[in-house]
Amino acid sequence: MNILNQLVVSSLSFTPKFIVAKVADRYIAGEHLANAVSAVKQLNSKGVMATIDVLGEDVTTREEAVASRDACISVLDAITRNSLNSNLSVKLTQIGLKIDKEFCRENVETILSTAQAANNFVRIDMEDHSCTDDTLAVYRAVRKKFSNVGIVIQAYLRRSEDDVKALAAEGANVRVCKGIYNEPATIAFKDRREIQQNYVRLLKILFAAKCRVGIATHDDVLIDAASQIIQDLHLAPQDYEFQMLLGVRSERRAQLVREGHRLRVYTPFGKQWYAYSIRRLKENPQIAGYVFKAMFETQREK
Ligand SMILES: Cc1cc2nc3c(=O)[nH]c(=O)nc-3n(C[C@H](O)[C@H](O)[C@H](O)COP(=O)(O)OP(=O)(O)OC[C@H]3O[C@@H](n4cnc5c(N)ncnc54)[C@H](O)[C@@H]3O)c2cc1C
Repeated sequence: MNILNQLVVSSLSFTPKFIVAKVADRYIAGEHLANAVSAVKQLNSKGVMATIDVLGEDVTTREEAVASRDACISVLDAITRNSLNSNLSVKLTQIGLKIDKEFCRENVETILSTAQAANNFVRIDMEDHSCTDDTLAVYRAVRKKFSNVGIVIQAYLRRSEDDVKALAAEGANVRVCKGIYNEPATIAFKDRREIQQNYVRLLKILFAAKCRVGIATHDDVLIDAASQIIQDLHLAPQDYEFQMLLGVRSERRAQLVREGHRLRVYTPFGKQWYAYSIRRLKENPQIAGYVFKAMFETQREK
């Protein structure tokens, strides 16, 4: 962690909420579903697809998990009602993974059947390594009944090559990202180059197996490497999509769209924005550097 990031992280507890709000404003659509709907309408008008995420994770009661599940269903309904080009992303700890795996699976199935009726798709996000096995187990259980579901693999995890080989054999729809949690070196690559190399290795395995792939990154090295693979394999635009976070690198995003690639923006919203922002910053101090930069930027890019 560099000194600047360390400073930002250690001062977070004293940072007034309105300052965090100013920063979060760039990355989060707002507190309400209506905010997400209007953010997605804007994205769609620029030829960009979306995936909406109801902020929240690590719930500890069944009531909270059911409320989150219902919020996901409201999102799917709003997508249909407003004819949005968007799907849904969900974190399993938000709908009960740490309470009871079976209960969580039932909640996912309820969400998936709503999505299926609307001809829509649900992506299961990947959380920290304590959730990896259970997340994959729930994904595989629901995948037996539903085809409108995908999973996420983190390139920083040493286990991911094996996971991707298995998922490729199952014909999974996989989003590949670097991974955002601060994981120990025993299980995760720490070197930027190693993570990039593993990311490219995972993409190649998935594409060779003709899987649908979400290329989630803002890293030019990876965007260029992925574009080269896409060109070499003569992939059609429907075989893959680039994915980015709301508020990040909108110029590069527009360039990819101009080049004819499909691109989806992860669009989080919800009342949990403060806890979410603080937790993300503490977990991954690198983001603190972006935040510091954002505090001094006047231009708002979404
Ligand atoms: C659509 C999507 C879904 C994701 N889902 C998951 C998930 O399920 N599980 C998980 O662990 N992680 C997830 N992530 C996060 C991901 O793992 C990375 O932490 C994040 O994308 C940053 O990695 P990068 O590949 O963009 O490379 P980086 O090297 O981190 O970033 C490259 C450049 O992009 C810019 N940038 C990146 N992030 C930010 C930011 N927050 N603010 C401002 N600028 C930024 C900077 O200019 C940076 O130099 C997701 C990311 C995306 C885009």
